[in-house]
Amino acid sequence: MSVNGDQTWAAEAACASAPPDALFVRGAAQRDARIRCFDCPVRMECLADALESKTTFGVWGGLTERERRALLRQYPNVEDWDSWLGSDDVTARELRLPVAPRIITRLRQSQASLRVP
Ligand code: SF4
Repeated sequence: MSVNGDQTWAAEAACASAPPDALFVRGAAQRDARIRCFDCPVRMECLADALESKTTFGVWGGLTERERRALLRQYPNVEDWDSWLGSDDVTARELRLPVAPRIITRLRQSQASLRVP
């Protein structure tokens, strides 16, 4: 894992000692993985890395693959996710909150507001 080439954050990962399969879960087990992520001191670095590498499977940075796909679709022109996650964008600000975001709901609402009636 790297964010702009820096991999040092991975040493502080809350999942560093978890079994490798612990992040590649489905259904209710994703909730447990997300809880660990939201206690992780390097969650934003992890999320930036997952978005930059377009990691397909698993819970990374507190987001499921479905949530990350929605973000990538909503922001196709972002090239530096680490910077974007620190920006004033309303979704980025929400993602920095120490609680699981309602990212799918929010992105759907913003996409619906862009549609012509
Ligand atoms: S945010 Fe989650 S997946 Fe990422 S390093 Fe922390 S615990 Fe692991």
